Amino acid sequence: MSIARYRQKRDFTVSPEPVGDDRVRVERAGPVATRFFCVHKHLSSRLHYDLRLEHGGVLLSWAVPKGPSVDPRDKRLARQVEDHPIEYGMFEGVIPDGYGAGIVMLWDYGTWTPAVDDVDDALEKGELKFTLDGYKLKGSWVLVRTRGWPGDRAGAHHDATAREGRSWLLIKHRDEWSGPLDITTFAPLSVKSAGDFADILAREMPAAWRTHPPVRGGATGALLAGIMKEAARRKASRGRPARRRTAHHASARKNRPADGTAAGKRMRRRS
Ligand code: MN
Repeated sequence: MSIARYRQKRDFTVSPEPVGDDRVRVERAGPVATRFFCVHKHLSSRLHYDLRLEHGGVLLSWAVPKGPSVDPRDKRLARQVEDHPIEYGMFEGVIPDGYGAGIVMLWDYGTWTPAVDDVDDALEKGELKFTLDGYKLKGSWVLVRTRGWPGDRAGAHHDATAREGRSWLLIKHRDEWSGPLDITTFAPLSVKSAGDFADILAREMPAAWRTHPPVRGGATGALLAGIMKEAARRKASRGRPARRRTAHHASARKNRPADGTAAGKRMRRRS
């Protein structure tokens, strides 16, 4: 496995994304006791989620436009993208310019376990069953390759780079962790910083974005403009957060449902 494609696409003098250490890649290419997985929530030209599964010293990666669903009736399109370095797993931050420019949130992470020993064979056959043990995503899942992926023709040479661009479906299996719940809206925040996109952006707002935001116009442009405004507001209120924090906590206390309220019962029924 190689991360040459990953490096090719990025200018690391601009992007804070990790370059990736080849010694880590070689070390993790052998048998590992546990395999890392994560999901990044990535606001770039479109909002999407990136599922990453550690295998062969890299993070196999799929861009999932609608994000994962814990409802087994949903089949979520997952387009395979270039392998990422292991070190990308805990990355969260702002990509000011270039490939993937936007905001990256670590939305979930944990470990994954393939249902079969030969992951490469399962990937080649186009069906990979596995379990996830993250903060938000748990239990049994499957990735199924759809027909018509680039290179899906007789005699096509199958190599590592040919995986890029193939379309898969990410589906939750029915188990104790499945249900009719919209997990992306139910649990929208970072599992690394507990913040939202505006919090991440408030920490490192690229100055150039004021005049040249990475996305303009349309729903995504409007979404980013709102996040930038909120990030600027939060950044400006730093240094005098005491009053805001007190007010926030007071209202949170006031609005918290006591045990036995309708909201409390709804929460318990779901679990
Ligand atoms: Mn992405």
